[in-house]
Amino acid sequence: MKELIKKHLYTSRSPVSDENNNLVHDVASELNADIIKSKCGSEVLSWIIPLYWKVIKGQLKDLSGNILIDFKNNPLHLWTNSISFQGRITKQELENHILTDKNRPDLIPYHYKFGFSTAMQNWGFCISYNDYVKMQDNEYIVDIDTELHNDNYMLTGVKTIKGQENGSTYVFAAHTCHPAIAVDGLTNVIVLMKVFKELEKRNVKNTYKFVFGSEYYAAAAFLNTLNEKEEKSIKGAFFCDLIGADTKPAYSSSFQGDSLIDSITAHIFKHRVKDYSSYGYRQLIGNDEMFYNGPYYNIPTVTLGQNVPAYYHSSGDNYEKIDFDMLETYKEYILDIINILETDYVPVLKYKGPLCLSRYNLYIDFKANPEGYRHIEAAQILADGKTSCFQIAEKTGAEYNFIKNFFDELVKYNLAVRK
Ligand SMILES: [Zn+2]
Repeated sequence: MKELIKKHLYTSRSPVSDENNNLVHDVASELNADIIKSKCGSEVLSWIIPLYWKVIKGQLKDLSGNILIDFKNNPLHLWTNSISFQGRITKQELENHILTDKNRPDLIPYHYKFGFSTAMQNWGFCISYNDYVKMQDNEYIVDIDTELHNDNYMLTGVKTIKGQENGSTYVFAAHTCHPAIAVDGLTNVIVLMKVFKELEKRNVKNTYKFVFGSEYYAAAAFLNTLNEKEEKSIKGAFFCDLIGADTKPAYSSSFQGDSLIDSITAHIFKHRVKDYSSYGYRQLIGNDEMFYNGPYYNIPTVTLGQNVPAYYHSSGDNYEKIDFDMLETYKEYILDIINILETDYVPVLKYKGPLCLSRYNLYIDFKANPEGYRHIEAAQILADGKTSCFQIAEKTGAEYNFIKNFFDELVKYNLAVRK
């Protein structure tokens, strides 16, 4: 996990670049995933795949030739998709081509706008405010040499874990782009890669797809490949972002707000995560949700992640800040969500009247565990042959695994059957 993060973190992962394609390629090889190739400039849904960008040089120098800013030191120093420009310019002119952030004076901000729009083109540098105030000369030399054209491809990875014929399909997605930025993109791709490695070992009921590539465009490229039957089979999607930040876990609900994946996510956060924040649709942070959970497709899509950290979209989002324990923990939360999707069933009781629990070693002492006692009491009454273990758990307030284990025991003793 750490090797892949180290290899790709400080690269210039603009939406369409060798660096971003390399990450897609590496993750796809790890998972033996499929790759969708989208030509730059081509139309997917109503979007145009952005221009391919390659940086040869990006420097700002003083008139004595001293290098003040160098893309080589941090790819955030250039505006994404900056065009070439060479020349001597005044400080005043340069001001129009500098992005700095006074509120976070020691961080290099991230300028991404031109990476997402082919129509707008410009050149520019990003610099920390502390370095910016040191620039007191009247003239500077700009030396930016880049390639920006449509003669290349954007890669999107899709890993499919095939379930049974009657199962549903669930999509998990994260974006690979954002130069030299860690928890906004990259770490989430790695967490989902690990989730899918784990899923591959299992015999699953549902089909799971992991979509990874540039923000927005990967979702568009993936959705564009689906036929009507495939579109209809997708019952939910999860977009992961900001996992590994130094903030509390958080989620955003789908636009529908009351779908099965909303309830399952809320359940796992309440019972497993415990200390968290929850938001409405796209309120935590907006990524590709509008593609999945938007016009036409309208697949309920939940965002899984953490609260937006103070160093969001800047050089502060770096390797040192990654909470690696959280990457492991979050992987487990995601597998917990999948566990409910995989194992839930409707129990049909085969006995009448209250069950003599002690005969089957299922008795819970009221004094020792009053909550457990009440939950088992209610669970039996709620098991009407139509309500699933998860729905019963939700109605009683108990944790899913507690309820499911109880009914599993009844099935074992032939006191219930699974429907
Ligand atoms: Zn971002």
